[in-house]
Amino acid sequence: MARDLAKSTLERFRRRLDEERVRLLAVIAEIEEQQEEVRLTETSSERSPDPNTAEGGSLAFEMEKELSLARNAEDLLAQVNEALERLAAGSYGRCAECGKAIPVARLEAVPHTRLCVGCAAGRR
Ligand SMILES: [Zn+2]
Repeated sequence: MARDLAKSTLERFRRRLDEERVRLLAVIAEIEEQQEEVRLTETSSERSPDPNTAEGGSLAFEMEKELSLARNAEDLLAQVNEALERLAAGSYGRCAECGKAIPVARLEAVPHTRLCVGCAAGRR
């Protein structure tokens, strides 16, 4: 079962995962900032009620949308972090389910994946 990826290949994936991690952290920070702004807006409009109450509905919708974006980003970040841990532990590139080697082409497409195509398909 031991099929070691070339050091240079592993290093390339590590760099991609690192970049993805940084990008996701920025996305999450930005969403949190926006959430904070929305909260501040809501608090101030409570103190001095705005006649345009229709705004409230779309504001809640926006917030809901942002929240699901944040959740997606956090999910992805957790997977990226796991992949980086597997890289460090030397188990990167092997399916977490069946233990088979994940084709490099799949890793290229989804560097943070922990499952081979077969196992990923079986889960859906
Ligand atoms: Zn598998």
